[in-house]
Amino acid sequence: MEAEIRYISLGPTDRIGPSAHYLRLGEWGILLDAGLDPAAEEESALPDFERIKNQPVNAIIISHAHLDHLGALPLAIRYFPHARVYMTPPTAVLSEKLLFHYIRVRSRQLQERRQKMTHLYSPEEVENILYLFQSFEYNFPFFIHGFQESQIQITFWDAGHILGSAGVEIAWQGKRFFYTGNTKKTSQFILKGAKYPASTDILLLEATYGADEEAPRIKKSAEVNRFVCFLKEVLNLGGSVLIPVFALGRTQEILVLLHRLIVKDRLPAVPIYLTGFGVVMNGVYDRLLHKVYPDYRLQRLRTITYQTLRGRRFRRPAIVLATSGMMHPNTLSYEIAADFLNERRNAIAFVGWADPETPGGSLREQKEERIRQIFGVSEVRCHIEVFRFSAHSHRLELLQLVKRLHPRTTILCHGETPALQWMWEKIRELGDQPDVIIPDPGEEIELV
Ligand SMILES: [Zn+2]
Ligand SMILES: [Zn+2]
Repeated sequence: MEAEIRYISLGPTDRIGPSAHYLRLGEWGILLDAGLDPAAEEESALPDFERIKNQPVNAIIISHAHLDHLGALPLAIRYFPHARVYMTPPTAVLSEKLLFHYIRVRSRQLQERRQKMTHLYSPEEVENILYLFQSFEYNFPFFIHGFQESQIQITFWDAGHILGSAGVEIAWQGKRFFYTGNTKKTSQFILKGAKYPASTDILLLEATYGADEEAPRIKKSAEVNRFVCFLKEVLNLGGSVLIPVFALGRTQEILVLLHRLIVKDRLPAVPIYLTGFGVVMNGVYDRLLHKVYPDYRLQRLRTITYQTLRGRRFRRPAIVLATSGMMHPNTLSYEIAADFLNERRNAIAFVGWADPETPGGSLREQKEERIRQIFGVSEVRCHIEVFRFSAHSHRLELLQLVKRLHPRTTILCHGETPALQWMWEKIRELGDQPDVIIPDPGEEIELV
């Protein structure tokens, strides 16, 4: 039988929304990620599973446990109840916690907005899919199976993005496909950077920072120095600093950085506050990270002194790591920001990516008019500063990756339109790999 590979993007392809990709390999089908957009309330928040409901899905592979890659998994299994679900062991542990947490957050939001309750799925439904999870370590090739064994071999590669994040290599009939997931080539403060295969035939490449021309010029140590100066200035004048973060990944990385700076006396030992779910995620890092990096000290995060933030009250001056990272309404980061914006001595520091369409994105880009509207303040009084401690590769690293893997075809994903456009042009300029695709949502693309 002719080797035949087809690809469909089930999420939007002009922004970072729900990630979900369908790959058809002959008579087999694989769903790569089943994400949702936690900000959106309507249908556009979800992948278009309808598009493939009549096609086979034998396996669902989750690259990492962020909701934009994981959150629609229970719905995917409703569509494809016979699919096996594959992920790394840390992602399996994190996914269970994230899915239950998302149900709680969504219930609270629905109650607060006094809307009719529309849950996407119930706790029982999540409970009932956990037995489908099968986990494999990095660099441990396995075959997907169903009622029969397939010839499709999967290998997870450390993607360097968060605990358990994987790049997914798929080998079938002599062809190799590599999905980067979300990837960070160089080390963060805890994670050590991604590892990649030597080459591939088809590459599905994230492009989060494709439009960011500044990122490649940033030196981590210089950025840390700038962060220190900024924090010291605010704290010494009696102010507090809010750092909006994702509970999973950013919280742990920034907590370790702050701790190091305090221990080295580079920062005053002010109280550090975390939100509750960030503390839960710390526990998983402490329990599982040493299995990925044998030199990671057990209970490392537990040795750091911090307090759990309860409501909006804390002593000043302090550093507050609060979720959500995108600062959605009715979250602590949103509420604290609304307070802080009125106070000249306080500050808000961004340490990662925020969707421009979200409240966090408006603040990060300092769109004053929108900030006043969204946060209900008359004036922006506090300092706002952006620091680049990203969990994603910058665009030159992504280009180097394309050069190194030397794929015949590159499909771009996980980026705003300008980011995808920049990557598209530069990859074409590399010369002998002219096949670069920005797919339309739902478009079926013949790859072989
Ligand atoms: Zn992610
Ligand atoms: Zn993502």
